[in-house]
Amino acid sequence: MTKTDWNSEARPARLEERLDDDVVRCHLSPRNCRIRPGQHGFCMVRANRDGRLVTLNYGRSVHATEETIETEAVFHYAPGARILSMGNVGCMLNCDYCHNWKTSQARYVEDKDVYHYTPEEVVDIAVRHGIKVISWTYNDPVVWHEFVVETAALAKAAGIVNLYKSAFFISGEAIEELIPVIDIFSVSIKSLDPKYYRKITKGWLEPVLEGTEQVYRAGKHVEVSTLMVTDLSDDEKTAREMATFVGERLDPSVPTHFVRFHPDYKMTNTIRTPVDRLEKARKTALGMGLNHVYLGNVYDTESTNTWCGQCGQLQVTRYGLNADLVGVDERGDCATCGRHAGIRLLPDARRRDRVEGLPPGEDLDVAGFDWHGDVRALHVQMRNTSDAPARAYSRRHGDPAADQGWEVIDLAPRESFRYIAAKSTPDEVGVQVAIPRQCASSLHQVFDRAHFPTVEATAGTLNEDISPLPLFQPGTRR
Ligand code: SF4
Repeated sequence: MTKTDWNSEARPARLEERLDDDVVRCHLSPRNCRIRPGQHGFCMVRANRDGRLVTLNYGRSVHATEETIETEAVFHYAPGARILSMGNVGCMLNCDYCHNWKTSQARYVEDKDVYHYTPEEVVDIAVRHGIKVISWTYNDPVVWHEFVVETAALAKAAGIVNLYKSAFFISGEAIEELIPVIDIFSVSIKSLDPKYYRKITKGWLEPVLEGTEQVYRAGKHVEVSTLMVTDLSDDEKTAREMATFVGERLDPSVPTHFVRFHPDYKMTNTIRTPVDRLEKARKTALGMGLNHVYLGNVYDTESTNTWCGQCGQLQVTRYGLNADLVGVDERGDCATCGRHAGIRLLPDARRRDRVEGLPPGEDLDVAGFDWHGDVRALHVQMRNTSDAPARAYSRRHGDPAADQGWEVIDLAPRESFRYIAAKSTPDEVGVQVAIPRQCASSLHQVFDRAHFPTVEATAGTLNEDISPLPLFQPGTRR
């Protein structure tokens, strides 16, 4: 992994159509941008250079980050699994509330946030850290198509599962290139109202629905989610329309997530979605026959758990971004009545090695971070500055039930590693990290799932319950 000027290099792009006068058309997203020589497409990361379509963000990613699969609104595939999240630069949409706008909208991207990975390096990180799932996520993987397809193929050959978390405004022909390499699709359907799509996302609805059907019919594991935006889409109409789409065009067994919104980007003059509206939406969708409906970004509710549809056995408990299998056997069936639970398991996908206490004699800096307000997750970044391997540790504190000792994190020489720590019980106070002196570290507060924070916690907001994210400044340009 190296740091570079992110848009300095162009590579040939797939899904190109060459038109007259050196104009090209991009067939990656339904937008089908017609691009003149020297110009960019809507996403700003595909361009026409000398009459050919090129990609500008090949291998350009935010820092690779270990998270849990729950971060991606995936509840029925390997609950609790550690994943390696990879996010890039640019987007084929421009949602007014985007919570990753500092990376999704290429004109706001700062070089400091962008790293350069090769496909081999991504797979190597996953293998060395025992991570069984790579998640293509954050801004949106659609505009990273060439890198995703190549790296996912390499990962698949290494026995790693690929997860695609996307708004899925993508062409059918691009989906056909994903199907052989992607195992899980987590699709964020912003609304079922075509007018909402045009106005709020700057995309359009039907290709998203068709694409979701396409991957479901191809036999992929599919889960769908909807961000319930306060006073805009957090109503029963959205719930009913989602339930109708899932029930009629997919299957009632497809897990469906109603996700709590937080004010961000151009939509800061509002409040978080009231939880009672989310609970009502869930009840509506369940009442219309969906089997599994969950809330996202909501804590202290039972509406994130999974029960057996036959005997009522509690099968998976979840708190925030953490999950525990409590009533499923090793075949993925209900531990009480034996009915198939509809949950795919992935052996060995969960735990890191742990130790009871810190080894005496190791020269470690121990730092703590307490959960506060809406900050219940944290990205911890560590960089081994030496030419020798290093070992760091991480633990939860404040709740004896959650504290299971120190997790061991092994760093290769010169490796930079980032992982998420997320509150796992109501009584847990925070996390502690123990870092050897040859490592540098930084902390980044995470607001809600699939958010990649670009600001360090020490940049003025540490342990304060204030507006979490840097506010959008209209007119800001690189
Ligand atoms: S990916 Fe979509 S937005 Fe980007 S250039 Fe291609 S068609 Fe346009």
